[in-house]
Amino acid sequence: MTLPPSDIKARQSEFLLELVWDDQAWTSRLPYKKLRAECPCAGCKDEWTGARILDPESIDPKIAIAEMDLVGSYALKIAWTDGHSSGLFTWENLRKICESARSES
Ligand SMILES: [Zn+2]
Repeated sequence: MTLPPSDIKARQSEFLLELVWDDQAWTSRLPYKKLRAECPCAGCKDEWTGARILDPESIDPKIAIAEMDLVGSYALKIAWTDGHSSGLFTWENLRKICESARSES
């Protein structure tokens, strides 16, 4: 099981989400646009194949987080300024996204 990040900060002026993972003393900075592209809901990703339905190019580069809520102790629910709010990011999934963002940069 993935431990939750010890801190989550929405850096609205930089359009990124900062997550602190204590086990690696690692602060990861995820651009909103990337996070939005990885939305795991059924409308953005095929539930069975995991294939992406949402075209990342169609995402507004100025997309931001409208609202963030913890769901129990296992996930973060994010409502975006494009009106999309059905994505539930589990810690495990967030961690995976952070790791893939790290290997890209
Ligand atoms: Zn979605």
